Amino acid sequence: MKSSIILNFLLPAIVCSTLYGQGNYEKQRDDMVIHQIKARGVNDKNTLNAMKKVPRHLFVPAGYRSKAYDDRPLPIGYGQTISQPYIVAYMTELLKAGAESTVLEIGTGSGYQAAVLSGIAEKVYTVEIIEELGLAAKKRLKTLNYKNVEVKIADGYDGWKEHAPFDGIIVTAASEYIPPPLIEQLKDGGRMIIPIGSPFNVQTLMMVTKKGDKISTKNMMLVRFVPFTRKK
Ligand code: SAH
Repeated sequence: MKSSIILNFLLPAIVCSTLYGQGNYEKQRDDMVIHQIKARGVNDKNTLNAMKKVPRHLFVPAGYRSKAYDDRPLPIGYGQTISQPYIVAYMTELLKAGAESTVLEIGTGSGYQAAVLSGIAEKVYTVEIIEELGLAAKKRLKTLNYKNVEVKIADGYDGWKEHAPFDGIIVTAASEYIPPPLIEQLKDGGRMIIPIGSPFNVQTLMMVTKKGDKISTKNMMLVRFVPFTRKK
């Protein structure tokens, strides 16, 4: 009786959870790209390829690995989250980086968005305000061999002046307004993707473009991000 329970129920359950829960991440990633990202209209080849490649399960805490490819954001500690895969892909597509682009990200978090951009841009600079997260992301990106990404622990409000101007700037925390240093550090003709609005409500994902002295903004969609914080 006991052995038949094991054979009929437990063994298949173990096999299934290995195949679909932990192992077979490549299949989960392909499904994620087809059903969550392409299905919602993201078509940019560079973005889709990068999303197919980056092992998202290695960017979430071990306890969340089996949920890494779910259609949702996940906690990464310190009250922060890794964004839903679709939002990462959508923002990446909007940024329109190419093989010669230098990109700045504010809000490194797990390093996942930076890893996605690493496969598209020439160089990725990313700034994180929480030291523990920044250090962990730096180590993770190094272990996974993302050679064109540099992480700095600082208040991203000030951008990263030494490496400016940037072809693209992507901000992954919600700010009430666009930090002026980020506008200054955007290249003429560059674009910035940033969630703007109250940190306690939904925000508007904005595409900001700079042409000479002219700054234009376009509202893209409603989003919900963790707050952009400042160093006291
Ligand atoms: N892009 C990340 C997720 C971002 S969560 C990923 O792919 O995992 C938002 C991150 O922005 C958090 O880690 C938070 O600590 C950070 N953050 C908030 N305000 C910041 C600031 N002023 N400068 C730099 N990072 C900031």
